[in-house]
Amino acid sequence: MLGWHWLIEWQTPYEFHGHLIDKVLAEEKSSYQHIMLVEFKRFGKGLIIDGKVQSTLYDEHIYHELLVHPLLLSLDNPSNILILGGGEGATLREVLKHKSVRRVTMVDIDEKVINFAKKYLHEWHQGAFEDSRTKLIIGDGYKFVEETNEKYDAIILDLTDPIKDSTSYKLYTKEFYEKLKRILNNNGGIATQATSPSFSLEVYVTIYNTVKEVFKRASASYTYMASFDGLWGFVYGGVSPESLSKDEIDERIRQRIAGKLRYYDGYSHQISFSLPKYIRQEFERI
Ligand code: SAM
Repeated sequence: MLGWHWLIEWQTPYEFHGHLIDKVLAEEKSSYQHIMLVEFKRFGKGLIIDGKVQSTLYDEHIYHELLVHPLLLSLDNPSNILILGGGEGATLREVLKHKSVRRVTMVDIDEKVINFAKKYLHEWHQGAFEDSRTKLIIGDGYKFVEETNEKYDAIILDLTDPIKDSTSYKLYTKEFYEKLKRILNNNGGIATQATSPSFSLEVYVTIYNTVKEVFKRASASYTYMASFDGLWGFVYGGVSPESLSKDEIDERIRQRIAGKLRYYDGYSHQISFSLPKYIRQEFERI
């Protein structure tokens, strides 16, 4: 269509998807990455980092709810939480819905993403950066984990994809998960975004198997993300959310969460943790 912009997003070296863009709202290059905020024709406002869609107004709630709630609802009384990455502030928003949470430390490497979010992405963070329980740190999550002496009940990794030589690559390694274990309270757990079962099944499965090796207990979920043009996966370590029934999830949401959820409930939980046969077989094979 003449006069329109397209975002050409490479999913693998062999395929790309095109997203029609109404308007580029802002664009900046930081020391770490290229950041863009656009108005997509189909998905509304969207954040793009290094040419990859990070989240859009249309379905960010699906991603952020599924990353956060299965982990926190599996823990007894999660109080002190660490988020690494999560620049938009939406993971922070979901964590703060838990009544038991007293303190959330969020560490993102890129101040420019945070400033972008504060200025343009209010629908994502909804004031979460100003919550008195929030402590925001600009810094490398890897270094923070190596240096902190604090212990956490839950650690949530909302990082860019593990592309070789990127700032997030080493935060998906076995060595890093061992470091997370050191700062996790007994019976604590972790959650990480785990890329796409559609475009990078091997990476999703590898993250699952690495988390399992370190934390002994691991679970995986997935969902369809229209703005990512495919399935998206999450992995949880040290907890077993899949063992909770539909009714248990609904009851825990009623008792422990203040505020509304748009995707996650007992029914969606069952769907997201029911992995198809070919993925379960890959978990065994790789
Ligand atoms: N939903 C996303 C996706 O699909 O990949 C992830 C969203 S979030 C915007 C990713 C964040 O990770 C960014 O804000 C980026 O600055 C941050 N990040 C990357 N490497 C990091 C590191 N080593 N330590 C802390 N934050 C990091």
